[in-house]
Amino acid sequence: MKQEKIMLSTLLDLEEDNLFEDFSINDIGDNHLYTNLETPLKSNAFEISDKEKKEKISVLFAEIMDVMGMDLNDDSLKGTPERVAKMYIDEIFSGLNPKNKPKMSLFENKYQYNQMLVEKNITFYSNCEHHFVPIFGKAHVAYISSGKVIGLSKLNRIVQYYAQRPQVQERLTNQIGKDLEHILQTEDIAVIIDAKHLCVCSRGIKDDTSTTITTYYGGAFKNPQKIAELQNYIKNS
Ligand SMILES: [Zn+2]
Repeated sequence: MKQEKIMLSTLLDLEEDNLFEDFSINDIGDNHLYTNLETPLKSNAFEISDKEKKEKISVLFAEIMDVMGMDLNDDSLKGTPERVAKMYIDEIFSGLNPKNKPKMSLFENKYQYNQMLVEKNITFYSNCEHHFVPIFGKAHVAYISSGKVIGLSKLNRIVQYYAQRPQVQERLTNQIGKDLEHILQTEDIAVIIDAKHLCVCSRGIKDDTSTTITTYYGGAFKNPQKIAELQNYIKNS
């Protein structure tokens, strides 16, 4: 959190205390700023069941379509509200609910492998919380074992879990880094994300070629040599 605020304040050239004082709600959304490392959730976010959520979203989404003038009696559109609701809760936003967090079993580092382990080119799909359109790209995750290891696919799963939320890329990067730090019981964690934002590609500035890179470097990965080593592994695809 602290580290994150410093990063943002440097980025915005602002004092830590008044980070968003000069920004309207629209400025924050349009510039893809964010206010918290944690996903902003209501305290009663999971009081109603997934089934109830899907029913409510289905009704509300039908209303959005209706307001836009679409004919929901058309056979092609009839099932859309329900389909969207199911997709939101069961798939693309399923990572909002902690019950969907992948189970993480730790193993002893039997082979005493004590160099960095890199899981690179993890494909992920997320959605921008400011525009609700896709963010997608590759995540590269690295750690140095503190004596414990996890199954390789778990690194992919933890990326997918946090990606399946309305997100901003900086928070996604930090949430993955912080959680891996906790799971693997080490600060020696690095996360690099290179992603395309459809809210930049397909609307607004309509720049289809730019991508956004964000990083999380903890512990040993704060050393420029380690960063260079990691970047070298990633580059040699
Ligand atoms: Zn956006």
